[in-house]
Amino acid sequence: ARFRGRDIDATETTCGYCAVGCRFEVHTKGDEVLGVRATDPEGAPANDFSTCVKGKFGYEFAGSDDRLTKPLVRRDGDLEPASWDEALDRVVEGFERIRDDYGPEALAAFASSKATNEENYLMQRLARDVLRTPNIDNCARLCHSSTVAALLQTVGYGAMTNSIADVAGADAYLITGSNTTESHPVLATRIKQNVRDGADLVVFDPRRTGIAEHADQYTRTDPGYDVAWLNGLTRYVIEHDLHDADYVEEHVHGFDELREKVEPFTPAEVERLAGVPPEELASAAETLADAENVVFGWAMGLTQHSHGTANVLAVANLALVLGQVGKPNAGLSPFRGHNNVQGGGGDMGTLPNKLPGYRDPADPDVRADFADVWGAEPPAEYGLKVPEVFDAALDGEVRGLYVMGENPALSEPDIGHADEALDALEFLVVQDLFRTETAEHADVVLPAASFAETDGTFTNTERRVQRVRPARDAPGKARADFDILTEVAARFGADWDYDSPADAMDEIASLAPIYGGISHDRLDAEGGLQWPCRDADDPGTRYLYEDGFNFEDGKARFVPADMGRPGELPDETYPLTLTTGRVMYHFHTGTLTRRAPGLTHHVPESFVEIHPATAESLGVADDEYVRVASARGSVVVRAFVTDRVGEGVVFVPMHFAEGAANALTQGDTVDPESGIPEYKVSSVRVERVEGE
Ligand code: SF4
Repeated sequence: ARFRGRDIDATETTCGYCAVGCRFEVHTKGDEVLGVRATDPEGAPANDFSTCVKGKFGYEFAGSDDRLTKPLVRRDGDLEPASWDEALDRVVEGFERIRDDYGPEALAAFASSKATNEENYLMQRLARDVLRTPNIDNCARLCHSSTVAALLQTVGYGAMTNSIADVAGADAYLITGSNTTESHPVLATRIKQNVRDGADLVVFDPRRTGIAEHADQYTRTDPGYDVAWLNGLTRYVIEHDLHDADYVEEHVHGFDELREKVEPFTPAEVERLAGVPPEELASAAETLADAENVVFGWAMGLTQHSHGTANVLAVANLALVLGQVGKPNAGLSPFRGHNNVQGGGGDMGTLPNKLPGYRDPADPDVRADFADVWGAEPPAEYGLKVPEVFDAALDGEVRGLYVMGENPALSEPDIGHADEALDALEFLVVQDLFRTETAEHADVVLPAASFAETDGTFTNTERRVQRVRPARDAPGKARADFDILTEVAARFGADWDYDSPADAMDEIASLAPIYGGISHDRLDAEGGLQWPCRDADDPGTRYLYEDGFNFEDGKARFVPADMGRPGELPDETYPLTLTTGRVMYHFHTGTLTRRAPGLTHHVPESFVEIHPATAESLGVADDEYVRVASARGSVVVRAFVTDRVGEGVVFVPMHFAEGAANALTQGDTVDPESGIPEYKVSSVRVERVEGE
C-alpha cells in the first residue's frame, strides 16, 4: 500500500551477507533494486528494525554490469560465451570422462555457504548420488570446522547453543577472536546495548577490535596461544572453587581429567605463554564466575589455527565448568560468517563425513534411509576436505572439480598453492555471479542468480531457518543454482523430481530429523523456525540442551584441550606475526561488496595495520606504501599505523585481490582434527617501498 501507483514492489527476504540473518524488504522497480528497509520487528527476531551498512547498501552488486549473463566455455585457451546447451554438455562430458577413466573419487565438489539450503542439499546429492563421489565440502572448512568438531565432541551439536535473543540478554560475555562490530554488526549492536545497560564484557584478543572498545576488560593476547589462557581461566575457577560443582556432577563427564589437564596452566605460565598478566586472568575469571548468565562468543580468531579444535574445546570446557550451557541468556555462541554457513555449510551435509542432518554415511541404517529416498545408497566412505582436495589435485588424484559460489583462488591460504592446484585440474566448473579469480581457471563458467533472485531458505547463526524470496529476475541467461543443478543431474540421467525448492525442503525434512518439522508452507505462515524442529507441531528450539546434551546419556563431555603452538614462528627473516580478518564494509573475497560503490568507497584498497613502535623501528610512516612479505609471497599495501595491533603483530584484511592477505598466509599448517588452515598466524617482514 505504501507504494500504490508507483510500480514499486516490496519483497520480504533474508540478508545474503552475514549469518546474523537480518530480515528486510527489498524494494524494486522492475529489476532495479531501489533500496532495503527493515520493517517488521516481529518477523525479524535477529534485527528488529536494524540493518548494517552491508545490508543497506550492499545490494548494488545485483545490478552490476559485471554480472555473468551467459555461460562461458574455454575455447583455444580463452573463456568465451556459449549457449546453456553447449556449456552443460561440456560439464557432463568433462566429469563423465574423468569418472570413466579414473573413478568417481577423482571428482570433487564444493558447495556454497552463500547459496540456499535447498541448493546445497542438491549439490551434495549431485556429488554423492549422481557423480558417486564422497568428495563434497565447502568453505566452512576454512572458518568454523574446528568449532563443529569441538562442539560435536563436548555438547553434541555443531552449532550455537543459544539464540541472538540469549546473546542480547546475557549478564556477562567472554568474547574472543571475534571482530563482532565489523563482522556481525547488528549482533554487536545488541551486545553493546546490553553492556550499556550493565552487562559485563570481557574481550581477549590479539587485536583491539571495535567490540573491545566497549569492554569492561580488554586483554591483549599473543596470537596463537589461546589454549593457554583459556585453560588458565578454567584452572583459576576450579582452584578458587568458583565452578558450578553441582552442575558438573549432574551434567558433565570427565571433570577429573579436565582438572589434571589444566593444572600446569598457572597464572605465571599463562603470562609466559600468552602474554596475559596474572591480575587480568584473575579478574576475567571472577567476572565470569560471578555472573548469573554468561555468553561465550567467538569467531575465526579462535578457530583458524593449527590447533583450532583445541581452542574451541577449551572454551566449551570453561563454559561447562561454570554451568553456563543449557539455560536462557547463556551458552556457547560461535558467530558464523556467511549468511547460510550453518545450513548450507553444515546442516545440509555438504561435508565429506556427514550427510544432511549430520548423519553418518558410515552407518548402514543411515545409508538405507537415504537409499529409500534417492534410490541408491550414498558412498559409505568419508571424502576429502577442501585442503586435501587441493593437495590431491596437485598429486593427480582429483582431476575434476565443481565449485558453486566459492572463490578459493582468493580465500584459500597461500593462494599461490591454490592457483597451482586449480591449474593442475583437468576439468573445472565454476558456477557464480561474477567472473571471479577462481572462474579464471575454469573450463566452464555457469552464470548463477544472486540471493535477491532466489527462492529458498537460509539458516542463520542461531539455527533459524528463514525464507529467501526473489525480488528481481536474474540478468540475461543467468539461472538459480537450484535450476542449474537439477538440469545437470537430469543430463546425467538422474530422475530427480523437484518442482520447486519447497519440494527439496520436504525431502530434507524427511532425511534430516533436526529439520523434520520445517517446510516452506510453515515458514511462510509462521516466520523462521530454529532447529531442532522435529515435527509439524514442534515450535523449534531457542536454546539447546535444556533437557540434556545430545548424547545417549544426556550428559556433556569435558574434552581436555592440549596446548598448541602456531605452525610458524617469527625468525630473523620474517620477524613479525601476521594476522588476518575483515572490515565492516566488505565481505569475504570482496566479490560482492567491491561491486557496491556505496561500500567500496569507504575502504577502497587493502592495508596493513602496524603498531607505532614497530613502524618506528622499521622507519615506516602512516599512509605510505610498504611491502609485506612471507615465505609464500609478497604484497604492496598502504601502512596504517595504529595501536589496534600489538607490537610485532601486523594485520591485513582478507577482501582484496590486489594486496591479498592470502598471498602471505600459510597453507601447510592445518588443524589435524578439522582440517582448518592456520590463517591467523604467519610470519612476515615489512619493508618500505621506495618511490611507491
Ligand atoms: Fe546483513 Fe549481517 Fe548486516 Fe544483518 S548484520 S544486515 S545479516 S550483513
